[in-house]
Amino acid sequence: MGDISGKRVLVREDLNVPMADGQVSDDTRLRATLPTVTELADRGAIVLILAHFGRPKGPSAEFSLHQIVAPYAAVLGRPVHYVDWEGDAAAVAKLQPGDVAIVENTRFFGGEEKNDPATVARFASLGDLYVNDAFSAAHRAHASTEGLAHVLPAFAGREMEAELDALDKALGNPEHPVAAVVGGAKVSTKLDVLKHLVDKVDHLIIGGGMANTFLAARGVNVGKSLCEHDLTGTADEIFAAAEAANCTIHLPYDVVVSKEFAANPPSLRTCNVHEVAADEMILDIGPAATEALADVLKNCRTLVWNGPLGAFETPPFDTATVALARTAAALTSEGSLVSVAGGGDTVAALNQAGVADQFTFVSTAGGAFLEWMEGKELPGVAALSR
Ligand code: ADP
Ligand code: MG
Repeated sequence: MGDISGKRVLVREDLNVPMADGQVSDDTRLRATLPTVTELADRGAIVLILAHFGRPKGPSAEFSLHQIVAPYAAVLGRPVHYVDWEGDAAAVAKLQPGDVAIVENTRFFGGEEKNDPATVARFASLGDLYVNDAFSAAHRAHASTEGLAHVLPAFAGREMEAELDALDKALGNPEHPVAAVVGGAKVSTKLDVLKHLVDKVDHLIIGGGMANTFLAARGVNVGKSLCEHDLTGTADEIFAAAEAANCTIHLPYDVVVSKEFAANPPSLRTCNVHEVAADEMILDIGPAATEALADVLKNCRTLVWNGPLGAFETPPFDTATVALARTAAALTSEGSLVSVAGGGDTVAALNQAGVADQFTFVSTAGGAFLEWMEGKELPGVAALSR
C-alpha cells in the first residue's frame, strides 16, 4: 500500500450489528473492524468506513448508521466522525489525517445493490484507495463490496485476510485427514455444501435435522422427525458421490427422541435409530454416536463445521453439539486439530458450549461462509485478487 498518510481510504466494513431497544446487543462485528481501522488511522490515513445497515428502501432514520457512531467510538476508543450523504464532500474535506468517520448507509442508494456505475463513482469520489474488510458481504457484487475494487486501488483488510487465510487452511489447502460437520435443520438449504464437501473431505459427519433425511434414504423409519422425504433420492446421490470420492459419511446410530418438542420432555429417551416410534421425533444424536465422532476428530488434522447436531436451543438437545464442540476445542488447544466453524446458529451453539474462542477460527459471516463452503467464488474477493 505504501505511504498512505493523508490519503482518504474507503474501508468497507460490516457494521450490520443486531440492535435491541436502541442499543447494540452484540458488538462482535464492531470489534472485528479494529485491526484494520486502527492500523490505517495510525498510518495517518483519513479512514472513511463504508457499510450497509439493514434493508432500507431509501434514506430513513431507522436504518441510519448515525446510531452506530457512538457505540463504535466506544469500541474503537477514539472519536468517530459521521459523514451524511448530504454534504458528504464538504464533511470529508474537513477531516484530518488519522481521523475515522462512518459514512452513512450505502443502501440509501438504490444503485448499491445493483452495483450501478453511477453509485460506484459517487462512493469512489470520496476516497483515494479502497480496502475491503467485510468478508461477510463478499458474496454480494454490490457497489461498495465489488464495484469499488474496479475503480480505485484495492486491498484486502486485516479481518478479510485472516478470514481468507483460515478458510484456506480449512478447505483450500488443508492438512488431511479433513472432517466436516454439517448439521442444522434442512438438507434443502445445504445441498450444494454437501455436494462440494464430498470431494474435499475425508469424513463427512451429518447431524441435525438433515441427518433424518439421510437416515430415511437408508430405510430408517424416522417417525415424525423433521425430514425431507422428497429429498431421499438426492441423499442417495450424495452417498454415491461420497463413495466414489473415498469420503466416509457418518450418520448417527443412536439418537435422542421425544414425543413432544419441549424442554426436558417427559417422553425423552435415547434409542437406536432403528427403534424410533411412529409418534417420536429425533431431536439430537445419541451418546454412542457422539463418542464415535469424537474418535473421528481425534484422527483428523482439520475440521470445518457448519450446523448444530441437534435442536440445541432446547435442553437437553444441545448435548451432542456441546460435547463434540468441546472435543474439537480440546484437540485444537493441544495443537492436533485446525478447527474452523461458521453459521449463525453454529456460532451461537459454540458460544453456548463456551468454546468459540478455542476454535482456530469462527466466522461470523453467515451467507458468505456457506457460499464459500459450496466452493463458490465470492465476487468481493475475486475483485480484490484481479
Ligand atoms: P447455521 O445457522 O449454523 O447455518 P442452520 O440454520 O442450518 O445452522 O440450523 C440450525 C437449526 O437447526 C437450529 O435452529 C436447530 O434447532 C435446528 N435443528 C438441528 N437439529 C434438529 C433436529 N433434529 N430437529 C429439528 N431441528 C433441528
Ligand atoms: Mg441458521
